[in-house]
Amino acid sequence: MTKTTQAPRICLQCEGPIPEHKIASAKYCHLNCARVASYHRKSPEARKAYNKQSNDRRMRQDLLPILRTLGRSAGEAEIIEGTPLGRYVVGMFLLERLSNWKLDLALNFNQARNTLAALAGGHDELDELEELVTAEMLKVMKKANQ
Ligand SMILES: [Zn+2]
Repeated sequence: MTKTTQAPRICLQCEGPIPEHKIASAKYCHLNCARVASYHRKSPEARKAYNKQSNDRRMRQDLLPILRTLGRSAGEAEIIEGTPLGRYVVGMFLLERLSNWKLDLALNFNQARNTLAALAGGHDELDELEELVTAEMLKVMKKANQ
């Protein structure tokens, strides 16, 4: 058995090593690097079209389900609107959005905001809860940096 000692092949995109199991003609370490490289080879017009397509996909696959769920829940959640339980649920959403980018994006849409505002008992209450969460978050970050 002959063992060839070749220099490690380098990914053209990230300059990391290309895994040994990849075929000899492989130029990238991973499909993700190939995608990024292909994106950069596109014309500005093609990039624009690609970005629009991926934004549409993101909207369809990631955000719409959240917005639909929130919309559906809104009808069922009427009895807790403006109650401490309603505000608690809103608080949980606001905390969850800090670590969930899909939820974070979804909550920027008016229909999502209106649902949360209804649960909280109004837009003023929603603003107040958001300020509380932000203020506490800043305290935590300040403490962590000490
Ligand atoms: Zn790479």
